[in-house]
Amino acid sequence: MLFKDIIGQQAVKRSLVKMVERGRIPHAQLLVGDEGRGALPLAFAFARYINCEARAGDDACGCCRSCVQMNQLIHPDVHFIFPVNKSKAATRAGSVEGDKPVSDHFLPLWREQVLTSVPEGYFSEQMWYQAIEIDNKQGNISRHEAAEIIRKLSFKAFESSYKILIMWLPERMNDQSANALLKILEEPWEKTLFLLVSEAPERLLKTILSRTQEIHVPGIESGEIARWLETVKGADPATAALYGKLAFGNLLEAIRLTGEAGEREEEFFSLFVQLMRLSYEDRHLELIEWGEAVAVLGRENQKALLENAVRLLRDSYMLSMGVDEVAYLHGQEYAFCKKFAPYVNNRNIEALVAECERAVREIAQNGNPRIIFPHFALSVSKLILRA
Ligand SMILES: [Zn+2]
Repeated sequence: MLFKDIIGQQAVKRSLVKMVERGRIPHAQLLVGDEGRGALPLAFAFARYINCEARAGDDACGCCRSCVQMNQLIHPDVHFIFPVNKSKAATRAGSVEGDKPVSDHFLPLWREQVLTSVPEGYFSEQMWYQAIEIDNKQGNISRHEAAEIIRKLSFKAFESSYKILIMWLPERMNDQSANALLKILEEPWEKTLFLLVSEAPERLLKTILSRTQEIHVPGIESGEIARWLETVKGADPATAALYGKLAFGNLLEAIRLTGEAGEREEEFFSLFVQLMRLSYEDRHLELIEWGEAVAVLGRENQKALLENAVRLLRDSYMLSMGVDEVAYLHGQEYAFCKKFAPYVNNRNIEALVAECERAVREIAQNGNPRIIFPHFALSVSKLILRA
């Protein structure tokens, strides 16, 4: 991760860059930010920036020796500590963990989690526990980790100006490990930086808080989230703006919202495909069953399903008239509608749309969906066969 890969957070990035430019980097820093704000990727980008051999203004170069090692998270002077627990996944990944699991046993899984998340480095505590298959347990940072830290930091920096230790979720330390960390923070370590990334600083020892410099990572601006949803997820501007607001600064929440919407659209599309297939095959009984299945979806879903059907019918009609460029179809929708187009023409398009609109009206007026939808399915079938 480079700073430019971080979504929003301009102010935080600026203040981190300034520390490096002034050559005054506090040796222990605590980045505090709720899930999905990007506190962890900020720590990665900061570590990379500090050790980059050819910084270009306010970002790392991305291609020097240090940056290349950071690309794979295999930099010999950058260490990671994060919550873990006993897990079969770590054993499968080739680590011998025994009774004392520590972060190092999970490094291959950690690298995979960080590097394959979209965007890179954005994932939640729960997602991490799922990845290492301890979903029903909580991870923790044990006192054995402290011994590891001391061992690692006792070596001189291999090739960079700083040794950096990134600890994700220090609130997962128990009293023993927290006290051990405290001792480490009290000692001056030459050219060593501690970056703690916390979602719950109130659970940390006061003495740890007082030895770290806090950096507040605010929620991501809704406009920044919307722009990301548009450019990366291909969301339309209105949806992107809506989810940008509903996410309340949490990018992971925005991704969840888009995913759910995507699943719903997928369901509407497959119901449309079913209805049209049953219609041109004139399968009465199954058409009625289709109507009964849709009857239990809930009114809002039913309306959305019908509106989506109108869109697909209109676009299929456009295709049947040979005007490809007016149809807003892509992927599987385009593939189906192209085949389906011969069944929509001047003889039935108006009536098909009218059927959909009538059903929407009846649903809005609290009509009984168990009557509306079987009737709707049979009417559509008749119209399709008229083509
Ligand atoms: Zn570099």
